[in-house]
Amino acid sequence: ASFGFQDVPAGEKAGMVRAVFDSVADNYDVMNDAMSGGIHRVWKSVLLDRLNPQPGQRLIDVAGGTGDIAIAFLKRAAARPLRGRAEASAVICDINHAMMKAGQSRDDARPFANVLTRTCGDAQNLPFPDRSFDVYTIGFGIRNVTDMDAALTEAWRVLKPGGRFTCLEFSRPVTEGFSQVYDAYSFNVIPWLGEMIARDRDSYQYLVESIRRFPPQGAFKLRIEDAGFSRVSYENLSGGIAALHTGWKT
Ligand code: SAM
Repeated sequence: ASFGFQDVPAGEKAGMVRAVFDSVADNYDVMNDAMSGGIHRVWKSVLLDRLNPQPGQRLIDVAGGTGDIAIAFLKRAAARPLRGRAEASAVICDINHAMMKAGQSRDDARPFANVLTRTCGDAQNLPFPDRSFDVYTIGFGIRNVTDMDAALTEAWRVLKPGGRFTCLEFSRPVTEGFSQVYDAYSFNVIPWLGEMIARDRDSYQYLVESIRRFPPQGAFKLRIEDAGFSRVSYENLSGGIAALHTGWKT
């Protein structure tokens, strides 16, 4: 069976997303590197460059999975002098327990055991009070959420005034020629890699389809503005294969 969502009622999408990530959790980090040739690490590092994490900041990494972004955030903040500020802290919030559990055994998370927590929760209904965080990140997660606008409104709600929203997501290659090569790669090679490495073609087929359905850079920017964010902008990464959107809660 295919995980294609076009014919699936919205109410069933959440269950299917859960099934996909249950099924990929144990192989997720390996597959991420295999599919992207490790480029997702470069994109995450650009995100961290832009955020410039500081001691005292509190991060929520929504759809944080095994914790790449949250851990890198804490690592960068810890490299800065405290100057009277508290250590930075982070919460990984993911709907899928298996993904977070797979991240618990990461060696690079160990130094942050006292400032890193994991909470099971839905991006559309975050289990945190208003104005709890300085920084919100969502990396390769928002396209899996049933109601993206609800997730954006929740991001706005849990940020403190002055807080920053950032979203890293697959997007649209900016040139036509590149777009064709990319299509050929993603529709053929990725499901095949899924089969070879994880014995799970359907889940990776779903990932490719979900990327195609996600709005392009400009349309997504408008949705972020509609949720209430100011000074929204985006940056294309690797020719638009991914994009980094950012905005502020004023
Ligand atoms: N951010 C991590 C990274 O970049 O490596 C993980 C990305 S992974 C492709 C997508 C994650 O989104 C999965 O861990 C999945 O469980 C989570 N997810 C899907 N729907 C969600 C929702 N409604 N709320 C919170 N997390 C969700």
